[in-house]
Formats: sequence, C-alpha cells, structure tokens
Amino acid sequence: MITFTKSVLLLCCLTLATTAYGKYKVNLVFNAPTNQNETIILKNLKQAGDAQEVVDLVNQKLSLPKQLNIVFGAEDGPLYDPEINTIMMPYAFIDEVKTRFVKAKYSETGVTPDQATNDAIMHTLFHELGHALIEMYQLPVVGKEEDAVDSLANVLLIEFYDQGQETVLSAADLFDLESGDREDFEEADFWDEHSLDSQRYYSALCHVYGSDPDNYESILENTDISDDRAELCIQEYEAASRNWFKLLNLK
Ligand SMILES: [Zn+2]
Repeated sequence: MITFTKSVLLLCCLTLATTAYGKYKVNLVFNAPTNQNETIILKNLKQAGDAQEVVDLVNQKLSLPKQLNIVFGAEDGPLYDPEINTIMMPYAFIDEVKTRFVKAKYSETGVTPDQATNDAIMHTLFHELGHALIEMYQLPVVGKEEDAVDSLANVLLIEFYDQGQETVLSAADLFDLESGDREDFEEADFWDEHSLDSQRYYSALCHVYGSDPDNYESILENTDISDDRAELCIQEYEAASRNWFKLLNLK
C-alpha cells in the first residue's frame, strides 16, 4: 500500500515528468516507394524539404500532448486518423495533384507544376494538422471543422512563411481545378462535410486578399467580388489569424 507521503511524492514526480517530457515531437516517415513513379515523387518531396519544414514549425511552435506521426506513402488519405494519431498522405494523391497541374498547363502562370504540387501538399498537411490539433487539444469548433482547418492552413502559411500567400494561391487553384470535375451537383455534394471545391477556392482567395490587400489587389480585379465582401475578407482573415493564434497559443 502506498502511504500518503509516498503518493504525494509520486504525484510530484509524475508532474515533473509530464512537464519535462510533455512536449512531444512530430515523427515524419517516408514509406518505401512501390514503383518508379513513387520513387520520383519521394525524391521531389525530399528535395523540396517542405514536409520537414512543416514538422520543424510544429515542433518549434507547439507543445503536443502526444506524438503525432506524418506518414508519406500511406495507403489511405490524405487524412488524419485519430486512432493512431497519424496524418496519412499517399504518394498516389501527390501524383494525382501533379497530373492536374500538368494537364492545366499550370506553368503558364509562372509556377511550375512541381512547385504548385509542393504548395498544395503543404496546404493539405496543415489542413490535416488542424484536425489533429483539434482532437489532441480538444479545441472548441462551432462551425464546419473542414472550413476551420482550411483557415488554419491559410493562416499558418501566410503568417510563418515568406511566400505563404503564393503557396495558398496554388492550393486554391487546386480546389478550382477539382471543381471542374463536375458540371452538375448531386445531393451528396451538399451533404459533404467539406464545403464545395469552388467555395474552398474563393475562401482561400479571400484570406490571401484579406491578409495583404495592397499586394493582392489583383484578386479584386480578376474576380467579381463586391467591395463589401472584399472589406469583409480583411476582417475575416484578421479574425481567423487572431483566433487561431489564441487557440494554439502561437507567437
Ligand atoms: Zn479535412
């Protein structure tokens, strides 16, 4: 039987141990490629170093209550599996994204399909990270979680990376390309937990413009956005960044 003094001591040491070891790190895994295509994808991924940058940012800015795994080359995904605390990113998804940018002749925008793919994957990683953080910290979310984590991806990229807005714009363009997959909507599209791809596209543009209206005035010129909505984008981005910084205790 543990005496009172012993249990107090035990409690004290457990608390110390939690404080000392409470900051868990992200574990980044690249599964072995299963074909030549995946070998090329893996090589590009490692060369770009974006996944490692995401990991470094999380390790530097956040104190995770448990270890988070990011697995490239997973079979399912992209998704966050709360059962095993793992973000899964299949090589096939990365390949699919690149194919879309190649087919759309994305180079004509001045951004190579490889760069745009890396951008969109980085945005996707931060989106899945958002699901992980909501689960791990039990964060309150009172709207669509999918919209919330899209906004987290936009905020983290814009606030912590020099070219963050450009990264978000590539990711937005992927939503735009994906929205072209269908001409007619079915009921299932409206039941989906995600907003429609077109809505995700415009929301991302709204955040980019809202984060830096002077530099991204072209978004107003190239779209039919009303003056009132443009003004609201500034307020919306300000609220999204302020609230995510507060929820995650970011500096
Ligand atoms: Zn999601």
